[in-house]
Amino acid sequence: MSIVLLGPPGAGKGTQAKRIEEKYGLVQLSTGDMLRAERKSGSELGRKAQAIMDAGKLVSDDLIIEMISRRIDQLKGGKGFILDGFPRTVPQAEALDRMLAEKGLKLDAVIEMTVDEAALIDRIAGRFSCAKCGASYHDQFNRPKTDGVCDVCGATEFTRRADDRPEAVKIRLKAYREQTAPILPYYRKKGLLHPVDGMASIDEVGRQIEAILGRP
Ligand code: AMP
Repeated sequence: MSIVLLGPPGAGKGTQAKRIEEKYGLVQLSTGDMLRAERKSGSELGRKAQAIMDAGKLVSDDLIIEMISRRIDQLKGGKGFILDGFPRTVPQAEALDRMLAEKGLKLDAVIEMTVDEAALIDRIAGRFSCAKCGASYHDQFNRPKTDGVCDVCGATEFTRRADDRPEAVKIRLKAYREQTAPILPYYRKKGLLHPVDGMASIDEVGRQIEAILGRP
């Protein structure tokens, strides 16, 4: 099964992708996570992406398409994947179709997480993640069971993203409206688009997604 999760920053794509991974045995492919890993490793791609990401802008289509194609090739034989943060432009969506056709794959569903934009800046401002395993948390909505200790791996170091500052978030939301939202009609026409209420609780959004994907 191949799924795309669409929605603006802060819609909860990463959180739901992790749930789908666990329930359906799919692999989360987050282009944002891949780029952050490239930056950490000090690679050329990571260096190219750094300033663009911190400003909240989009990295060039060519770099992203090559990176994701390589990752999909590495997954051969698995149950499938969830694309989180890709595609983010119409050329990326078109490249994805070509890429999947070449690999003998196809998209099964595109899940659009709809949100109230005004609520997103607060939502994003409270985000943090485990520095060791990347599990995501929120100051208000999703705190670790024991304060200061990651539920998943027990680590005690957490990080906040540079591009979660309100100035960068505003630019990311603009990029979503102008460059990513035009993908929605592209997938609607293909009959693949399924909206879910991204403002509902994490469990409720999870249930809505399971209703779309069917029993694991
Ligand atoms: P995310 O973690 O999905 O919010 O992505 C963080 C940042 O990585 C974005 O603001 C972009 O700068 C970059 N990025 C991630 N995915 C893409 C993509 N598909 N196309 C262009 N830039 C991307």
